[in-house]
Amino acid sequence: RTVYVNGQYLPEEEAKVSIFDRGFLFADGVYEVTSVLGGKLVDFGGHAKRLERSLKELDMAAPVDMDELLEIHRQLVEKNGIDEGLIYLQITRGAAADRDFAFPPEDTPPTIVLFTQSKPGLADSPAARTGIKVISIEDQRWGRRDIKTVQLLYPSMGKMMAKAAGADDAWMVEDGFVTEGTSNNAYIIKNGTLITRHLGNEILHGITRAAVLRFAREAQMTVEERPFTIDEAKEADEAFITSASAFVMPVVELDGQTIGAGAPGAVSARLREIYLDEMRKAAV
Ligand code: PMP
Repeated sequence: RTVYVNGQYLPEEEAKVSIFDRGFLFADGVYEVTSVLGGKLVDFGGHAKRLERSLKELDMAAPVDMDELLEIHRQLVEKNGIDEGLIYLQITRGAAADRDFAFPPEDTPPTIVLFTQSKPGLADSPAARTGIKVISIEDQRWGRRDIKTVQLLYPSMGKMMAKAAGADDAWMVEDGFVTEGTSNNAYIIKNGTLITRHLGNEILHGITRAAVLRFAREAQMTVEERPFTIDEAKEADEAFITSASAFVMPVVELDGQTIGAGAPGAVSARLREIYLDEMRKAAV
């Protein structure tokens, strides 16, 4: 694999980052994951915009402008011959002279790393045909989940809790309401109404979420952006998650209880189809 690190395209074995990098020592960094369909980038504009916001919220400098960033993404797709897959991007506050909680001097160069993950068949995933199982867990993350930081230990633990319970993923619950999935936004459908938690500091503002809500409204669906409970979700007709890597993925079981008919619902399947069609068309 050819990867990108601080201005250079290198074989992955040769790419190096300092042990004093603040991403490594303090999880002081942000990231984005953009999907590739047909060798093109899905919603690059949305990801670039959220990246700029994450950087700003953390007072972090952008090492490249967004045009350069697009060019790096395209170069990596080409160099690695990616047809379907993902591009991971991470920017950290860089390597300080020593370990210190205080931020390093402002002229410390940020670290930027990008790599590709080839995933043939990403859009035609078997899981989308069967649906996935989720469990509910307590949301124990920090309070600024709207910033896409690399601090992902609790979501990793959540995936392991799901695995241990024989499920595929976990929905996190705070003060009785679902926030989101470990790496995705959560939705239910009841009597034709699409319900998903409103934006705020409690969840990541999913790029896929924004597109799916737009397509749902264009299809004349009623959309309610509000909190919902696990009990409400268990009584729903359908449920699904969204993310740049899963697109729209039906959820058919919650805490061992079947949702709807226990198979992907018609509305979820339709939204997945619309999302993939439209995003392929708009991909750059
Ligand atoms: N919520 C969380 C916690 C996530 O990690 C992700 C994916 N990174 C999402 C939602 C979905 O965001 P997007 O649609 O931009 O991939």
